[in-house]
Amino acid sequence: MKISLFNISNFRVDGGAMFGVIPKALWSRQVQADELNTIDLSLTSMVIETAGRVILVDAGWGGKQDAKFFRHAYLHGGSGLTGGLAECGYRPEDVTDVIVTHLHADHCGGCFVNAPGEGTAPLFTNAFYHISRAQWEWANESNLREEDAYLPENIRPFGESGRLNLIEEPGELYPGVALRICYGHTPGLIVPVISFRGKTLVYTGDLIPTMAHIPLLWNMAYDLLPLVTIAEKQEILEDALKGDHLLVFQHDPQYECCTVTETPKGIRAGIKGRLSDFI
Ligand SMILES: [Zn+2]
Repeated sequence: MKISLFNISNFRVDGGAMFGVIPKALWSRQVQADELNTIDLSLTSMVIETAGRVILVDAGWGGKQDAKFFRHAYLHGGSGLTGGLAECGYRPEDVTDVIVTHLHADHCGGCFVNAPGEGTAPLFTNAFYHISRAQWEWANESNLREEDAYLPENIRPFGESGRLNLIEEPGELYPGVALRICYGHTPGLIVPVISFRGKTLVYTGDLIPTMAHIPLLWNMAYDLLPLVTIAEKQEILEDALKGDHLLVFQHDPQYECCTVTETPKGIRAGIKGRLSDFI
């Protein structure tokens, strides 16, 4: 097995929205906000090569929308989707599987590109898409709260691809690649758990988007069910403590991953750094 991480792009989001009920007086000690109160986030995707499969986890925003759509994302830096894959040694056609953690625009948009003329075309011409059934059905109904995150041009092509695998329940997708399913951020968020050389890596996605989100109450205002997020985080953090797991962050521009440790205040980050420091 080989595991790679690459940052598709940084973007900026309102700092208050990223930390929900936590006062800025507290979160601003951890993360620097600019004059518009936005903070920097990364879009780190993971590639797992195992047993003849090349599995990509999440594909970023993509580029199907116009400049007006991306005006408030402040995209900057990163390697791009195909650029980042190339740095890891893969072409888009090498990707056999995409695990789409959920269908919010910054996670799934890159799987399809605008086709010449009209419609869309797959970027990964040989890939199957793994999405939880709970998220698929939820996103296709859409709702006022997540309307801006569920874009029909992002979601429809999965259904039309003939290559959609709906994940019914948690479990192993391929040897060493297990999927947990969470419901607090949005119903059916997939949290991939990878077993690699005796280590366990947990790609925490939008459940624990950055290292600053490890404390149980430090959650995004975007979460639909905050109490469920808290319970799900607690379980993942306790498992991580017991099993010495490595948490891999999708949105942390500074730290790719960390271990966890017990403190009088609860479970907190232990050793932090880049994935290559640990494996
Ligand atoms: Zn999300």
